[in-house]
Amino acid sequence: MTFARILGHERQKDLLRRALKSDRLANAYLFTGPDGIGKRLVALALARAVFCPAQGCGDCPACRKIDHGNHPDLHILEADGANIKIEQIRLLQKELAYRALEASRKICLIEAADKLNRSSGNALLKTLEEPPGNAIFILLTAHPQRVLQTIRSRCQPLPFNRLAAVQLEDELRVQLDLNDEESHILAALSEGSFKKALGRDRDLYLNERRELIQSLVMLSSGSILPIFALAERLAADKDRLPEVLEIYQAFYRDALLRRHDGAAQFINIDLRANIETVAGKHSTLELLNKLVAIKETRHRLERNVNRQLAMETLLLQLVA
Ligand SMILES: [Zn+2]
Repeated sequence: MTFARILGHERQKDLLRRALKSDRLANAYLFTGPDGIGKRLVALALARAVFCPAQGCGDCPACRKIDHGNHPDLHILEADGANIKIEQIRLLQKELAYRALEASRKICLIEAADKLNRSSGNALLKTLEEPPGNAIFILLTAHPQRVLQTIRSRCQPLPFNRLAAVQLEDELRVQLDLNDEESHILAALSEGSFKKALGRDRDLYLNERRELIQSLVMLSSGSILPIFALAERLAADKDRLPEVLEIYQAFYRDALLRRHDGAAQFINIDLRANIETVAGKHSTLELLNKLVAIKETRHRLERNVNRQLAMETLLLQLVA
């Protein structure tokens, strides 16, 4: 992936391109911003621009090796378990002691730099300050406030933002060959994250979403058994629960908008009838309370509570 082909992040790409051109790249960068918006792509594009004789043509051996993850001078470090371990840093330092094999300098990409703990972080400090062989460090994180202060202070920060929904919408329409309605829904629900829009969430957001919302709307507070059955079904798929709650949240947000003439901003533009029904049945305050209940359930699930119980409680609040 070359700089030019990465969607958005113009300011960040421009800054890196100019630094490279004037030979003023920093020793260490800290790319910050939400997961899945393209930080890693930009880091790899920078590696290409540094290693490739034509600043990232995409076609030479150097570019191809980067794409295939086997360039000998590009070191990518990821947490081994919950943390990046001190042994991993020692190993990296050993590798950095050797000269670059094919490029003029080495590049180290550290994923989730917030997973450097005190010992591995401290072991890295000196290397960050004076990288052997002029190596470049690129640290990535979605949680900059959790990165050790000592690490942060030695890196040049480069914040990345989510892509604007309309930007993502245009790109999705082209890349996935979607119609306007689908690209609108997918872009809105993936909150500016390409990874989500293109990955496993695509089908959930486009197709299963309709079924999820319709089975919720059909529930009535009078019959408990169907409520518990839906809670059980949703709780069984642990990994997708956060996205399912996101879908419910978007739906109640739409209902709230409906009560305030905000139909132009609907996310679920293909479920207008369901939105009407729910907006007609509940007051603004009730809808707000449902949104709060969804948010609280999201927090509760992050703390590993009993999923089924949490979903039963939530569904009871939503259909009340
Ligand atoms: Zn190239």
